[in-house]
Amino acid sequence: MKTIFEKIIDREIPSTIEYEDESVIAFRDVTPQAPIHILIVPKKRISSINECKAEDVAILGELLLTAKKLAKKLKIDDNGYRLVVNTGKDAGQTVFHLHIHFLAGRDLNWPPG
Ligand code: 5GP
Repeated sequence: MKTIFEKIIDREIPSTIEYEDESVIAFRDVTPQAPIHILIVPKKRISSINECKAEDVAILGELLLTAKKLAKKLKIDDNGYRLVVNTGKDAGQTVFHLHIHFLAGRDLNWPPG
């Protein structure tokens, strides 16, 4: 069965796409936790960091470089942003398709809740 993010990748569910290439897609979170809240998602199905393999090193790097591209595109590279990867139950992961939360546009508290 497809995850919700695979349905977004396949255009079965609409989303506001901010970036896309052959291996990565980035779209606005439907329930934003900050003025800018984008999910950076590999097109390859990887359920979480726990399932990453050595062969996934390149795609993991692509996800981080996508964050850099988004920051530049949205002109927040100077102000800053936070990248979050929830993994598993205690971290509150709800969609089991690896994703980075890209959060920006307000002061982000530390430590996070
Ligand atoms: P997690 O809790 O797994 O770290 O994050 C999953 C994120 O996916 C949540 O922030 C949630 O708001 C977002 N999300 C869930 N369903 C959809 C959807 O259908 N569209 C979009 N754009 N985001 C979604």
